[in-house]
Amino acid sequence: VSSFQQLYYRLYELIHEEYKKHLQKNSIAVEYLQKRSFTAEEILKYEFGFSPLNSKIPQKVAENLGIKILKKFGFSTKDLFEGRLIIPIKDENGRIIAFGGRLLGEGQPKYLNSFETDFFKKSKTLFLLDRAKDQIKIADFAIICEGYFDALAFHRADITNAVATLGTAFTKFHAFKLKKITSNVVLSFDTDAAGLKAALQSIKILVLMGFNVMVANKSAEKDPDEIYRTNGKEGLYNFIKEAIPAEKFIPIALSKKYNFENPNAIQLFLKEIKNWENLFKNFPKRLEIFQSVVKEISGSSLSTTKIVKKSNFSLD
Ligand code: ATP
Ligand code: MN
Ligand code: MN
Ligand code: MN
Repeated sequence: VSSFQQLYYRLYELIHEEYKKHLQKNSIAVEYLQKRSFTAEEILKYEFGFSPLNSKIPQKVAENLGIKILKKFGFSTKDLFEGRLIIPIKDENGRIIAFGGRLLGEGQPKYLNSFETDFFKKSKTLFLLDRAKDQIKIADFAIICEGYFDALAFHRADITNAVATLGTAFTKFHAFKLKKITSNVVLSFDTDAAGLKAALQSIKILVLMGFNVMVANKSAEKDPDEIYRTNGKEGLYNFIKEAIPAEKFIPIALSKKYNFENPNAIQLFLKEIKNWENLFKNFPKRLEIFQSVVKEISGSSLSTTKIVKKSNFSLD
């Protein structure tokens, strides 16, 4: 570790200390966390901060840390995170390498991250991995979420083997990192279109790298943070317990895009699903499950719509 890198960590740490102090002075930011059901103890434990308006970080420092932004008028710079709740982003060794900043109210963009630097790459960082890695080894699986507050919800529920991507796709670099400590993951993404797309993309990467992949998706439009706030620990335990293997999830999830009342739908579905079959070709058991779910879906939709299955798309 170069002395420049040491300085980088140190500066982030110092600014973080300032942000934490500001949070304690800002009742709106504290109330925001209270609304998200954080206790005073949890606010300290997860080390939230607040960036005040006109925070005075020297320009050169801000530039090197990836937290500088030009003011709209004039030539001065301001702190990227002004007026935002600060979430420290650490590497797996617990050193702060970036911040996430959330607006306290409505508006866009809801979240901002530090710009990437030599020491902070989103594609290689998993939020809370520092707190999760021991439990990932012990439980021998990792829970992967898409939002900061989702991974935090699991930790608050004492399910501490959860991490989150930083609002970007799950990458092979993330997978390499996890592969050193486990070969099993449970994906816990949002159930909206973006979450589905992210889940499918992650499954591809993970299965190809030899992971067993489960998908938790019985949430009825709620993300893990909302599940925790409405149904507590038990809600999250059940959510994870009801996860299904990726080889089942893929056909079920993809079939939802189609309206099988439409005579062409079944062929289009089978054509799309065929592209996914290869993924499991080296795993006979999983391939069998995949094929049987496809058959079940196409079979039942065929019988209800009385369409004759065309042999060129048959999976037999
Ligand atoms: P919250 O619960 O605070 O409203 P969320 O975590 O549920 O937010 P989503 O909209 O589901 O947010 O997005 C998932 C993740 O994507 C966020 O946690 C954040 O890391 C990232 N993200 C969301 N919106 C933005 C944005 N406008 N700019 C950058 N990153 C974003
Ligand atoms: Mn979402
Ligand atoms: Mn959320
Ligand atoms: Mn969400």
